[in-house]
Amino acid sequence: MQSLMQPHPLLISSLLKHAARHHADAEVVSRSDDGAVHRTTWGATEGRARRLANALAGLGVGAGDRVGTLAWNDHRHLEIYYAAPGMGAICHTINPRLHPDDIAYIITHAGDVVLCVDPGFAGLIETIAPAIAATVRAVVMLAAPAQMPALALPPGMALLCYDTLMAAAAEEFTWPALSEATASSLCYTSGTTGRPKGVVYSHRSTVLHGYAINMADVLGLRAIDRVLPVVPMFHVNAWGIPYAAAMAGSGLVLPGRHLDGASLHALMNAERVTLAAGVPTVWMGLLAHLRATGGRLDTVKIIMTGGSACPPLLIEAFGNEYGIAVEHGWGMTEMSPVGTYNKPKPAHLGLDPAGRTRLGLKQGRILCGLDMKIVDGTGAELPWDGIAFGDLKVRGPWVTTAYAGEPQGSALDAEGWFATGDVATIDPQGMMEITDRSKDVIKSGGEWISSITLENLAVSHPDVAEAAVVAAVHPKWDERPVLIVVARPGRQIDPDSVLAVYADKVPRWWVPDAVVVLDGLPHTATGKLQKTVLREQFRGHLVL
Ligand code: AMP
Repeated sequence: MQSLMQPHPLLISSLLKHAARHHADAEVVSRSDDGAVHRTTWGATEGRARRLANALAGLGVGAGDRVGTLAWNDHRHLEIYYAAPGMGAICHTINPRLHPDDIAYIITHAGDVVLCVDPGFAGLIETIAPAIAATVRAVVMLAAPAQMPALALPPGMALLCYDTLMAAAAEEFTWPALSEATASSLCYTSGTTGRPKGVVYSHRSTVLHGYAINMADVLGLRAIDRVLPVVPMFHVNAWGIPYAAAMAGSGLVLPGRHLDGASLHALMNAERVTLAAGVPTVWMGLLAHLRATGGRLDTVKIIMTGGSACPPLLIEAFGNEYGIAVEHGWGMTEMSPVGTYNKPKPAHLGLDPAGRTRLGLKQGRILCGLDMKIVDGTGAELPWDGIAFGDLKVRGPWVTTAYAGEPQGSALDAEGWFATGDVATIDPQGMMEITDRSKDVIKSGGEWISSITLENLAVSHPDVAEAAVVAAVHPKWDERPVLIVVARPGRQIDPDSVLAVYADKVPRWWVPDAVVVLDGLPHTATGKLQKTVLREQFRGHLVL
């Protein structure tokens, strides 16, 4: 017997159409560079996205063509997020914090035909223009005519004004009935080693990911929420929030370029934000600002943190001092990105405050639709006892099968699992906890030591601002941990006092063999600790 259900494909345009039809007056608020606030609605955004589809078609953008963006979170970027995939092209978000050589490589590798660029990145475009001239036909400045920068571009590469193009374009446009397998968006991994690699999402994977993160035990966005994705729209689809917010009809607050504590505090209160998502560094900045000024957050209920491990201080300080739940998620570019989210199960309801913080540090349970497992060096599955740690593998409909330009399936093992490169434990409740990146784990006498656990404990010391733990070569144990710390402003670090934080918290053989104090630590373009550099620098620290 054949299924008789309606075969509507899962399309990104249907999310925007839904928001416009059922939540037309839900607000989309953007803050621009000069602090001015732009207000629009989901209803108007759909009309503008149709207009943009016509404007892009007028520039010769067709099915499957890549439209690159170098832009902060705002309403124009949101319009591209919907118009490019909606018309059958591909929205390629580019991280402007990468090295210009990498940006030029990414644009050429992706074959972007049009680049949509915030005026603030005009200098960057001028630098890389000769290197991208073979693929890019037009640079569209995301600006009003009066804000257009003077820019010298190579012959054959047009400089255009977004607002002028939009004013000239017609609004009538019918979103095409694409196959749900059509490529919709493209994002390159930050690549701490080697060249960045592209991940190509589909309409289907994007819509399914949106449903999954809208479950009550994940972000669970509602029409009465006002959501602030602090995570940039150039970092893995802003964790899917621009799509999930349209599905729920939530208000969307887009913060632009200023992500410091004072700017976020003002925006969150002025725009009555209920839920915000971003990396721990951003939340540490907000916390420092609130503590220094005595400021309060009037409407925020939930802060989602992800992208790197959550320091215990965030959960405790926001929970105890401000009554805000800090919720921990984990994911990666290759999985759209959300894979796990930390919300309690019945077994966790009786936990005391220390137990709740301990639980909150875990990266969470797998989202329905995905599966995960941990394996040892031979590929054998490890038990879910919260103790054994091994390589974390995932699979599911919003996990990639390959990197851009490589054959389908080439990023998977024989059973279709994707190796995340993370090392993790899974406890009997299915709560996954990242203990390391596989290349960062410290192998001491054949046993593994988690560098992240040691770093989290080190930053709980009042004199320590930031910490990294790397493996150094050791004549007897192969590798031993070395702790590298940066002092808080105005503090002196006493190595013995820092090492005392490990007493009774980790096995004695995990305690680092040496403490090094530096003025600062190297970071990647996405704000992650650049362990490769530190590993190189301190590899010989214990043998020299
Ligand atoms: P990206 O693809 O740039 O988003 O980086 C993905 C990687 O970031 C993951 O494989 C993890 O190593 C790391 N990561 C993401 N979220 C978390 C988290 N909540 N805790 C620890 N590491 C994380």
